Amino acid sequence: MQTVQNNAVVTMAYALFDADKNEIEANEFAYLHGHNNIIPGLESALHGLTAGDKKNVTVAPENGYGEFQEELVERVDRSAFPEDQDIEIGMQFQTDTPEGMRIFTVVEINGDEIVLDGNHPMAGQTLIFDVEIKDIRKATEEEMAHGHVHGAHGHHH
Ligand code: ZN
Repeated sequence: MQTVQNNAVVTMAYALFDADKNEIEANEFAYLHGHNNIIPGLESALHGLTAGDKKNVTVAPENGYGEFQEELVERVDRSAFPEDQDIEIGMQFQTDTPEGMRIFTVVEINGDEIVLDGNHPMAGQTLIFDVEIKDIRKATEEEMAHGHVHGAHGHHH
């Protein structure tokens, strides 16, 4: 498999920067192309690249982790939590919402008022990726059926 295309297992190294060019993270991993395993703005930018290619990709929020949604910021009373549970800024809770499971993070504590934010930490941000394509191989039938990569750099469940 010579190019990044649907059902290719792509191993890539990347560094991620915010709009001010501050590095957020760097990593190397394999993903299954064409199965929404990575954010859409990055996936479409990598389409057609070959192993060894390097690309700088800017992803707007709507093609990344979404716009910041004010309605996902909720103010709840301390009494909504078990009394013996310590509530600290940065704590995360998984909550069932009409759109599926969502992770809420405690972002503010004002006395008895707890402010929870269900936005992705990178919502509303323009993201800049420095990407290098390391390897491309065809996915196995099982990987295609599962919609994700198996093997040394993947995961299984
Ligand atoms: Zn699997």
